[in-house]
Amino acid sequence: MTHLGNTAFAELWREFEPLGRDPRTGGYRRYSWTPADAACRAWFTDQAHKRGLAVEPDNNGNLWAWWAPRSQVRADAIATGSHLDSVPDGGGFDGGLGVVAALAAVDLLQAKDFNPERALVLAVFTEEEGARFGVPCLGSRLLTGAIDPRVARNLTDDAGVTLAEAMTAGGCDAGLIGPRDDLLGTLGAFVELHIEQGRALAPLGAAVGIAESIWPHGRWRLDFCGQADHAGTARLADRHDPMLPYAATVLAARQSAARGGALATFGKVIAEPGGSNGVSAAVTAWLDARAPDEDTLRDTVTTVRSAAEEASAEHGVTLTVRQESYTPVVRFDQGLRDRIAAVLAAAGPPAVLATAGPPAVLATAGPPAVLATAGPPVLPTGAGHDAGVLAARLPTAMLFVRNPGGVSHSPAEHAEQADCEAGVRALAAVLENLAGPAGPARPARPARPAGPARPARPAGPARPAGPAGVSGAEGPSAPAGPVGVSGAEGPSAPAGR
Ligand SMILES: [Zn+2]
Repeated sequence: MTHLGNTAFAELWREFEPLGRDPRTGGYRRYSWTPADAACRAWFTDQAHKRGLAVEPDNNGNLWAWWAPRSQVRADAIATGSHLDSVPDGGGFDGGLGVVAALAAVDLLQAKDFNPERALVLAVFTEEEGARFGVPCLGSRLLTGAIDPRVARNLTDDAGVTLAEAMTAGGCDAGLIGPRDDLLGTLGAFVELHIEQGRALAPLGAAVGIAESIWPHGRWRLDFCGQADHAGTARLADRHDPMLPYAATVLAARQSAARGGALATFGKVIAEPGGSNGVSAAVTAWLDARAPDEDTLRDTVTTVRSAAEEASAEHGVTLTVRQESYTPVVRFDQGLRDRIAAVLAAAGPPAVLATAGPPAVLATAGPPAVLATAGPPVLPTGAGHDAGVLAARLPTAMLFVRNPGGVSHSPAEHAEQADCEAGVRALAAVLENLAGPAGPARPARPARPAGPARPARPAGPARPAGPAGVSGAEGPSAPAGPVGVSGAEGPSAPAGR
C-alpha cells in the first residue's frame, strides 16, 4: 500500500466532492435511491474494492465493506462509517466525511501493515437524513428493528413514490427489508466520524471532539385544511385560510422553544394548490423539534400543537397532527467513549490531533494546552445520527471534526482539510486500538446504570482506559420505538424512557 495519510484523504475527497452537487446552488441533493445516490454508492464500492474489502449490501440498502481479520471470523467486528445521502441543498461533509474518512483511515492502517485481530467493517447507511421518505436514519432503523418494515415500505416521497418502488428501481427487493440481528450480532462497536453540526470546537481550539449524547428529537407533520378562494374577491371575514394558523404556529414554535431552551423549526411547507392569487386550500408543514431532555421536548411540542389547534379553530380550519418520527435521548457508551478519549490523549498532538498544514491553520488551532493535556473535548449534539440508533444495540461512539462556521445542512457547511485529516488520524488510531490486540472491543456492561451522565468535559483530563465497566459506564439507551404513521396524534410517549 502506498497511500500516505494526508494525500490519500485529499485525493479521495477530490473525487467524491462533485457527486450529487447541484451546480446552481452549490448544495448537495444526494437523495436516497436516486442517480446521485447511486453514483455515491458506486464510488464507495469501487474504493472499497481497491482496498481489498468485500462489499456486501444488506437487505435494507445499507452497504458493508469488510476487512477480514487474520482469523477470518466475524465476531466483535469494529464498524465505522456514516451516510451518503443529503438534505435538500445540504453540505458536502455531512455524512460523506465519515465515509471518506473511513476509507482514508483504512489507508493509514494498511500503510503500516496493520493486521486486525477483529474484523473491521465500513458501513454506509441509507436515507439517514429522511429527506426523501420522511423518516431519518431509515437504514439503521430497519436494521435494528426500530421501524416496522411494512410501515417503511409504504413511506412515500413528495411525488408519491413509495420506498418499495424506489428500492425496486434501484435493484433491491423491498420485500426483504427488516431487522438483521445476525448482522448486528457480529458487531462489537460502531464509531461514526461526522462533521460537527454547531460551533463548539472552534472556540476550544480543537480539531476533533467526542460525542457525549444526542438530544431527543422528532418530526411532526401538521395538515391545515381550509378552503380555496379568490384572493381578489373573497372577503377576509369569509375566508378559511390555512396559511394563517400555520403562520401563528411557526411563531408559537419559536417562542416555545426559546422559553424552554429547546429547538423548534419549520423547514418544509407545502401550500396547495399554490396559486399566487388565491387563498390556499391546504398547508402542510413539518415541525422538527429537539431538546436537551424528553420532558422539555414533550412540553415544546404540546405547546406548539395547542397553538396550532387554537389558531385553526379561530380561522375555521381543520388540523391534523401526526408524529412521523421520534428518537429518545441517546447517551453514547461511556466505556467506549473513555477508551477513545484515552487513545486520542495518548496519541495526542502532534501525532494525531494537531492540525498539519500552513501556519494559518495552526494559528486557528487555539491553545495547544487543550489538546496537549487532555483528550478531545466531549460534546452533546442536537443532531440525530445512525450511531444514535445503533446505540440501542451495541456500544457506539462518535468523533466530530471541527466546523469553523458551525453551519450545517447548507452549502455553507465547511471543514478545513487539515481538520479532516486530523479526524482521519484520530479515527485510524481508534480503529487500530479497538480492532487490534489491545483487548476486547466490547466494554463490559455495568450491572446497573449509573447516575446522570457527566457534563461535557471540554478541558478535563481524559481518563485512562481502565478495566471495562468502571467509571459508571451506562448500558445502551432504550431502543427508539417503532415509528408509526397512525392518524392524528400528539407526541407519543418516548419509547422506553
Ligand atoms: Zn449526517
